[in-house]
Amino acid sequence: NPTDVPGLPTGVPEHLVESGIEELYPPQADAVDAGVTDGESLVASVPTASGKTLIAELAMLSSVERGGTALYVVPLRALASEKKAEFERWADFDVDVGVSTGNYESSEEWLSSRDIVVATSEKVDSLVRNGAPWIDDLTCVVADEVHLVDDPNRGPTLEVTLAKLRRINPGVQVVALSATVDNADEVADWLDAALVRSDWRPIDLRTGVHYGDAITFDDGEQREVPVGAGERPTAALVADTLDEGGSSLVFVNSRRNAEAAARRLADVTEGALTPEERAALADVADDIASVSDTETSDDLAAAVRKGAAFHHAGLAADHRSLVEDAFRDRELKAICATPTLAAGVNTPSRRVIVRDWRRYDGEFGGMKPLDTLEVHQMFGRAGRPGLDPYGEAVLLANDHDTMDELFERYVWADPEPVGSKLAREPAMRTHLLATVASGFARTREGLLDFLAGTLYAAQTGEGGRLAGVVDSTLDYLAANDFVDREGGEVTATNLGHTVSRLYLDPMSAAEIVDGLRDADDPTPLGCYHLVCRTPDMYELYLKSGDREAYTELCYEREGEFLGRVPSEFEDVRFEEWLSALKTAKLLEDWASEVDEDRITERYGVGPGDVRGKVDAAEWLLGAAERLATDLDLDPDCVVAVREAKKRVQYGVREELLDLAGVRNVGRKRARRLYEAGVESRADLREADKSLILGALRGRERTAERILENAGRRDPSMDAVSVDVDVDVEDG
Ligand code: ADP
Repeated sequence: NPTDVPGLPTGVPEHLVESGIEELYPPQADAVDAGVTDGESLVASVPTASGKTLIAELAMLSSVERGGTALYVVPLRALASEKKAEFERWADFDVDVGVSTGNYESSEEWLSSRDIVVATSEKVDSLVRNGAPWIDDLTCVVADEVHLVDDPNRGPTLEVTLAKLRRINPGVQVVALSATVDNADEVADWLDAALVRSDWRPIDLRTGVHYGDAITFDDGEQREVPVGAGERPTAALVADTLDEGGSSLVFVNSRRNAEAAARRLADVTEGALTPEERAALADVADDIASVSDTETSDDLAAAVRKGAAFHHAGLAADHRSLVEDAFRDRELKAICATPTLAAGVNTPSRRVIVRDWRRYDGEFGGMKPLDTLEVHQMFGRAGRPGLDPYGEAVLLANDHDTMDELFERYVWADPEPVGSKLAREPAMRTHLLATVASGFARTREGLLDFLAGTLYAAQTGEGGRLAGVVDSTLDYLAANDFVDREGGEVTATNLGHTVSRLYLDPMSAAEIVDGLRDADDPTPLGCYHLVCRTPDMYELYLKSGDREAYTELCYEREGEFLGRVPSEFEDVRFEEWLSALKTAKLLEDWASEVDEDRITERYGVGPGDVRGKVDAAEWLLGAAERLATDLDLDPDCVVAVREAKKRVQYGVREELLDLAGVRNVGRKRARRLYEAGVESRADLREADKSLILGALRGRERTAERILENAGRRDPSMDAVSVDVDVDVEDG
């Protein structure tokens, strides 16, 4: 019972009971027994949706009650604000929550006044690098989804961050939340933590495989779900769930497949909607269509109107949350999602259908089966406590052998053990430089000593591998002038300090420095291409026909590239150069006011991808500007980089930069204002109001806000009349 839990702030246990937590779930009770509210470290390895978050909250609240500060580390930025909103329910108990979302290069001192701070592991890592003082006063650190230490790209940051936080704050309580993984005990050993391991779930889960006309469950029972002639098994399963009054979550392996499947399933769900649901969904669809002016937005709205939706990382954040809310409200009957949805977001469903269990993998060179852990996470979304009698997770097979394989691989199998990926080169060079730059280690031995506190060391034991990787990485860093080695000492150079604070992969910094060194007046495309070829930017893939098209463009614009263009005979390098060019061209289009819709179509990407590239370019160009300034490069070059950055940031041509810098203006309105003769911020302060209102298509509130932001003394639009036709289509 929550009222028996020791150490919580006054009133919290009662509040828990009032909000429906009348009893602790067994893993939560085990965590309390293990001392989680007494400051004891803990690894909780329990299934999805079994109340891990409350375990973390109990730890954080008791830590705050003892006068401390807690940090909650999330794997995705989208989850940071979601968790903050969740923890804000403790505001009534004098617990302040802050979320750290600022730029990498700041220490966000204001966070020191918060009791609980939520941040991504990347952000925490950068706070440590920038010497944020409040990091020294942490008493409780929560690592959400700690099994992601296994992720080749992001795992090492989480791992190193935890090692650093533990070194800065000896004795800090670490609460690591994990999916059920095989070697949770190793993670617990690494963190000197107690282990709570459980398979308990708040609602029963039945898993099985659909083949032919029936689902066969793990207990041997069968349920008939016949598939009609010309019908797809997924549609039959979704219809079957609808008959039972439930909703389905369908996992597929690509964004395109998610969209196509949602379109088809909409025809299945449409017939099951009540008039009230139809009306509610029409409102949601309108909201979705107004988020952005793209085909994706329209497609999503059209499916939602009929009761189905797709969900993937190419969607805008507002799209995703509208879909999730409508699904939780039981208005949407089916979501087709890529596996990103399985990580974190709370969208339980009566039935989970794992349609695709293989996915294209570039490094693997073909279709690769998903990890058991990943599929189990998807399974975990099945069953809504209090609403469904049980949850069902179903895989699809189209022959008997596949059915056997799916049982072996996913139904009976335990998830894979998690393993450190710290020894990978990009991770090592980034983290070793940061460790030296922030003074954590000043010698090779010091580095080895620090690394001894990582999961990597805990898993590899006394092998010689670590020393070898450290030596080759130090060679790389010294050769590129990021560190100096004298005698036994290793120190960061000024350049090395800057790179570490900017949160760049040293290899990106080396590429940028190299490209800018001899540049005098680079063009925006030249700047975009330079940052697009660094390892910190995910490049667009070349599709069929792209190679020819971009080879041609490469020769046309050869004079603009910074650095040597590889020859066509350097096959791999040239291919990478072209991919970077495709990405750079997308950015150039954006900065030339090409419509977002045209861009998504031309490059075969979603609106969320455009946003992602723009954000990454803005960050990398900001870093390039800093590097160029620090290295005393040609001032014209610094100005050119800054301008390229601003153009990508606002998505406008040069002449609109001043206007687009005013809040609430944006690229489209800036163009219309400019065309009406309002060409600058100063014009906004002086020009005739009816002219401005006309350019803003009669939107008084928008106009007032813009004028206020431009610093106009009297922004009021009362009694101002519009002398231009109002186009109601405008957004
Ligand atoms: P996890 O983080 O393990 O995936 P969550 O923490 O999101 O799971 O919990 C899933 C749901 O269960 C949440 O809606 C939460 O409010 C609810 N919940 C957690 N603990 C309890 C409890 N002891 N009693 C009732 N509901 C609970």
